[in-house]
Amino acid sequence: MSKLQGSVGKGGQNLPDDVHAVQALLVQIGLKPDPADGVCGAPTIAAIKEFQSRFTSAPDGRIDVGGTTWKKLTEAAAPTSAPATPAAWSGDSSQWTQEKKLLSLEPAFRATIEQVIAALKGQAFQPKIVFAWRSVAVQKKLFDEKKTKVLFSFHNAQHPDGTPNALAVDIIDTRWAWTDAAKTNGFWSALGAAGKELGLVWGGDWTDFPDVAHLQGRQNSELAKVKHESGL
Ligand SMILES: [Zn+2]
Repeated sequence: MSKLQGSVGKGGQNLPDDVHAVQALLVQIGLKPDPADGVCGAPTIAAIKEFQSRFTSAPDGRIDVGGTTWKKLTEAAAPTSAPATPAAWSGDSSQWTQEKKLLSLEPAFRATIEQVIAALKGQAFQPKIVFAWRSVAVQKKLFDEKKTKVLFSFHNAQHPDGTPNALAVDIIDTRWAWTDAAKTNGFWSALGAAGKELGLVWGGDWTDFPDVAHLQGRQNSELAKVKHESGL
């Protein structure tokens, strides 16, 4: 990513090339500064503020040359270093770093989950992804242990070549995990509310098999279609 020549956003210089570069980055991370036309209008400033709200409580809608927002934005939009081969994704995916777990998510879903995590942190929770993607072999093991009712879940969504493209995550608060304290401190309800506000499905709403840590990007009725798209 090249450097900005001038500031962009509210009260910025807003040179067309710079504005265009910023708009492209905002689109890449799932925000919508429409139209991405090199003109810095209200939607672009709103998108900048929305992005800033992920890391500051005082978003000002402005990106300065070499400033914190520029640094964070280029990092967030950097081409992911997601390994391209199935072998690089082997092993126990619950032990991966938070970053690798995020990289195993379908990109638009990943951007939404990043917003959920930011919202929870903003409420002083300590969210942590336990499972993002997992292999169908791990799913089978959980099925045999009666920890899941399905042999294919949105956690298993993948590209046909076997690399992860998951549409589900399980998120806990590091202090409480699945203990009663998670409920009494309101973590599950906050997780459900944050996810649903962004259009996700929360497993805590399932009456037959409540799954309070679970968020997914699609309706259960779409599971067969996603399985097919996964080449499984
Ligand atoms: Zn789950």
